[in-house]
Amino acid sequence: MDPLVVIALALAVLAVILGVLLGRSGTALREERARAVRQARDLDEGSRAAAVEAEVRDRFLEAVGPGVLVVDPDLRVTSANPAAHELLGRSARSLIGRTVMEAFLDTTVEAAVRTALDAGSAATEIRLAGPDGTVIVVRARRDGEGGAWLFLDDVSELRRLQRIRTEFIDNLSHELRTPLTTVSLLSETLAREADAADPPIPPRMRERITKVEVETGHLVQMVNELLDLSRIEGGGTLQLVEGVDLGPLAVDATERLRLFAERQGVDLRTVVEPDLPRVTGDAARLGQVVVNLVHNAVKFSPDGGVVTVGVSTWGDDVVVAVEDHGVGIPRAAQDRVFERFYKADRARQRPEPGGGTGLGLAIARHVIEGHGGRIWVESEEGVGSTFRFALPIAGPD
Ligand code: ADP
Repeated sequence: MDPLVVIALALAVLAVILGVLLGRSGTALREERARAVRQARDLDEGSRAAAVEAEVRDRFLEAVGPGVLVVDPDLRVTSANPAAHELLGRSARSLIGRTVMEAFLDTTVEAAVRTALDAGSAATEIRLAGPDGTVIVVRARRDGEGGAWLFLDDVSELRRLQRIRTEFIDNLSHELRTPLTTVSLLSETLAREADAADPPIPPRMRERITKVEVETGHLVQMVNELLDLSRIEGGGTLQLVEGVDLGPLAVDATERLRLFAERQGVDLRTVVEPDLPRVTGDAARLGQVVVNLVHNAVKFSPDGGVVTVGVSTWGDDVVVAVEDHGVGIPRAAQDRVFERFYKADRARQRPEPGGGTGLGLAIARHVIEGHGGRIWVESEEGVGSTFRFALPIAGPD
């Protein structure tokens, strides 16, 4: 064959091979490029969406009234609105990047945020250093990214008004106590003299004197309880002592009401777990709480009813339970019975000289919460109620 023809054929084959090769790599390159373009677009869209989300969040945070901070899992502030900066007395954007501790200079907020990261939510109240003494409630909520959102509310004005109200009640009760005690003593004397009067006084007059005596006694009790409540609310009145044994304390308190229970035809029982761990507490105040709960349990029990006072260990707490089989408390009223002056349906109550004041459970709640404990009720109408309070077992230190 002509050598020129051979060369031409070889070139053609090479061209075909090159064409095929070039064609293939061209497709691959095109695909590669398309993929890269797609990825870049996705990435671009992702970061654009994140940026838009962050922008929307910042705009939203700027617009809302309460202070809001967003912290990451390391407790570092990633976002904070102007209201938060203003509340904490910081210059614009200076909170970003700081830790919760640096932002608040308060360990309780850090603890609350850690609790929220574990449990979902937590709250605490802090007073800022400075002449204004701003009081802020901090509510922390875990977010979906392992961090938390902190909502700050300035409650200084609310607390100031509450203090004024407490002081007002305190002053008023003080002013009322002395004259009322005198009237109460006089009416007691009058009732005794009316009993011994010779010739006897008309029965209607005697009845009225008794009513005056009973109602004045009721007023004195109310004023005393109001004073108690405002003192306990004011804080610092609990005399906490280590090593309080709630067993004998509950039994002693219950015994104080045995006579009252007998008169009402109610059987009082106590069940105390042996070797109870000790708690730290104010024995006199805790005794007062038990007396209050047992007094109510007897008051709302039918003739022949049984009231059981139990003391036992529940996990890290010692729990005192006062159980009755009386009228019970409607569901809607169960959260409210711990409010001051709250009385569930008065008609269901046994007629009692002077009636109740509606303050006993409010005092009980303050005393128990002042001990770092909690108090609650489980009740069913017509079946009975169990009031319980739990106090943490005292640690070795
Ligand atoms: P008081 O007994 O002086 O009215 P408390 O604060 O002790 O005030 O109780 C508030 C209200 O809670 C009572 O008026 C009553 O309606 C309800 N309550 C408390 N204990 C019981 C109980 N064991 N059974 C039913 N109702 C109760």
